[in-house]
Amino acid sequence: PVLVSMDGLRKEYGDTAALDGVSLQIRRGEAVAVMGPSGSGKSTMLNMIAGLDRPTAGAVTVDGKDLNGLNETGRALFRRRTISMIFQFFNLLDDLTVLDNVALAAQLTGVRAQQARQRALELLDELGIADRRDLYPAALSGGERQRAAVARALVNRPALLLADEPTGALDSHAGEQVMDLLIDLNQIGQTLLIVTHDPNLAQRCASRIVEFADGRIVGERTLERTP
Ligand code: ADP
Ligand code: ADP
Repeated sequence: PVLVSMDGLRKEYGDTAALDGVSLQIRRGEAVAVMGPSGSGKSTMLNMIAGLDRPTAGAVTVDGKDLNGLNETGRALFRRRTISMIFQFFNLLDDLTVLDNVALAAQLTGVRAQQARQRALELLDELGIADRRDLYPAALSGGERQRAAVARALVNRPALLLADEPTGALDSHAGEQVMDLLIDLNQIGQTLLIVTHDPNLAQRCASRIVEFADGRIVGERTLERTP
């Protein structure tokens, strides 16, 4: 069962080809890491999958839907229901508590306040930061902030979790905890696509590593993961 399918994906910015014919499929339940030098097109690919930007040519389907066939509003709705992202710098809202950051993400998809709060609490509990729920992001450690960001990303039960350098701003201990969390999530079936420069993260968390250079896939290998 294929969750994401990219076929001949091309994206030009002016006369730069950020993506130059990328074809890649991600199956449900896979954890794929994308590596490659800066400027090689990794973020552009994430943006295409998240429907945040349109390809110049080629197609992306996610969960059977052709993102090109949707207008801006359609893509935003589809994205909210299907895809979540976590980032290097967490992107939590500073003026909201941890609990409200997570609950708001659910409310934005139409979940009622009470139920959103309930779901948020359950996730914070599962991720081991329930005791931080009433704090603002600034009061949390880096690792706790990333766990809060993961809770927010999971609250709508996305088919696909996109992670863009999720450990890039963390010290090694906090980074390890986030990696363990990603591994656990994948083991319970969460499909992951991780963009990273960190070979350790890719080796530990991914079942397949895809190598980018100059907007193309230049290598791919499947890993035997040792839990
Ligand atoms: P990576 O994520 O691997 O660092 P990017 O996808 O960010 O690579 O960038 C790929 C290429 O596309 C780079 O040459 C970059 O400068 C260019 N690029 C990316 N986004 C834009 C944009 N919005 N406008 C113009 N050029 C862009
Ligand atoms: P929306 O229209 O869904 O509010 P935008 O297209 O305005 O989202 O994107 C705002 C920023 O939020 C984007 O630059 C992106 O980094 C982030 N973003 C977009 N979609 C998601 C998502 N599904 N999960 C997490 N972050 C997202």
